[in-house]
Amino acid sequence: MALHRNAAAVFVGQTVDMAYISTNPTTGEVVATFENHTEEEVDALVGLAATSFATYRHTSFEDRAMWMRTAAETFEGELPNIAAVLTEEMGKTFNAARGEVMKCAMTMRYYAEHAESMLMEQSIATSGSRSGVRYDPLGVILAVMPWNFPLWQVVRFAAPALMAGNVGLLKHASNVPRSALLLEDVFRRAGFPNGCFTNLFLPASRVAALIGDDRVAAVTLTGSEAAGQSVAAAAGHALKKCVLELGGSDPFIVANSADLERAVPMAVTGRVQNNGQSCIAAKRFLVVESRYDEFLARFAAEMDEVIVGNPMDPATGVGPLVSAQQRDEIAEQVADAISKGAVVHAGGTAVDGPGFFYRPTVLTGVDASMRAGSEELFGPVAVVEKVRDLDHAISVANATPWGLGASVWANDFAEQEKAIAGIEAGMVFVNAIVASTPELPFGGIKRSGYGRELSSVGIREFCNAKTVFVA
Ligand code: NAP
Repeated sequence: MALHRNAAAVFVGQTVDMAYISTNPTTGEVVATFENHTEEEVDALVGLAATSFATYRHTSFEDRAMWMRTAAETFEGELPNIAAVLTEEMGKTFNAARGEVMKCAMTMRYYAEHAESMLMEQSIATSGSRSGVRYDPLGVILAVMPWNFPLWQVVRFAAPALMAGNVGLLKHASNVPRSALLLEDVFRRAGFPNGCFTNLFLPASRVAALIGDDRVAAVTLTGSEAAGQSVAAAAGHALKKCVLELGGSDPFIVANSADLERAVPMAVTGRVQNNGQSCIAAKRFLVVESRYDEFLARFAAEMDEVIVGNPMDPATGVGPLVSAQQRDEIAEQVADAISKGAVVHAGGTAVDGPGFFYRPTVLTGVDASMRAGSEELFGPVAVVEKVRDLDHAISVANATPWGLGASVWANDFAEQEKAIAGIEAGMVFVNAIVASTPELPFGGIKRSGYGRELSSVGIREFCNAKTVFVA
């Protein structure tokens, strides 16, 4: 594979005949380009993964944990350099990038410590002398991953999967090749045997064929619905296990008993985190009428105050969107809403100049006839809607095709319980924004996907839950 690292800077608009392109969204400059692996190279790398699995599956939890902890140490020890790659490659603030790297390290340590107990054989009393379930690794797992958390999305899969004795093949998004190589390098340097974690520079069009490869046991995808449909279809055709983490339009519900002192700043964080490009970002703010005016005024004012600019500057709250295309997409969704009668309370425009910046925006008066009312908003744009009461909020929250997460703000116990039981989503967080954490399962329902990552539920997704019975 040829690697072309910053040989001569080229700029957006120029044709670059390379499949994997790392562009700095703050400047628009192309930083590095990489060719796709050839069919022969992919074949050899998949073969290496399969061979590696045959021996790796028999390694001890102790050895795997040692390698995993070493990988965590590398993340911690090289924190500023690794974080800078994320900021340079997809525009998240350096603060956020540091947080992502540390979260990866923490999660690696968590699975190094807990994987063995999560996968311990479970005894179930029957007429036999021994009976229950044991968890064996499945094999070579293909991970198709997105650019928005270029390390975290991968580690969220890889830390549990490798600790369970599986090996991983990574097909990362085509705009984050440096993150992909960095991950492969960290796992290799940590001591994982060759072939345990392999990066493939592979176009999306070749993923379905790879899923059909007999040496691949299962696939996980984090990304868009369209990609999910394609991967699920290929996995279905090949009859292989598949986990899908797709998009969402998570509600942020402000109930009667909400504490606005806490809710408003977290509403801002929930919407603008990762420059607005998070699947679990709060996207629809459903506020009961008794709290609506106060919430809207405070929320719009705080969104307006968020500093947009250089992601390396610690004062910056929102850096650039990942690409010109993503910035234009969000601008078109907002313009469409405004043209059909939506009201802008903050932002509403892109920032001129180089880089792909869009101002934190608050809209009201959005309905389903508008793109902003029917599509996922993958940028720092919030839609605020007045609802009569909590029951109404829950029914509006549920009236979407998605069901990833939901954030509910209520101090009253009865309101909390009603929301937890009533919301159709994979995750409900009360008086907190939705977040992933190594201890808890992560995933959605409806068009947000199926299966779970993290926790004992997630680690078992790529295990054979083997029934054992000894008479
Ligand atoms: P995307 O276009 O679906 O890309 C994600 C990955 O899928 C990339 O590696 C991409 O490769 C690959 N891909 C795209 N089309 C494919 C196809 N037809 N077959 C096989 N692979 C395909 O998604 P994105 O725009 O990068 O990410 C944003 C979306 O991901 C949003 O909807 C967001 O909500 C969702 N997301 C969900 C979660 C979650 O945990 N639920 C987390 C983060 C993001 P290429 O780059 O080569 O096209």
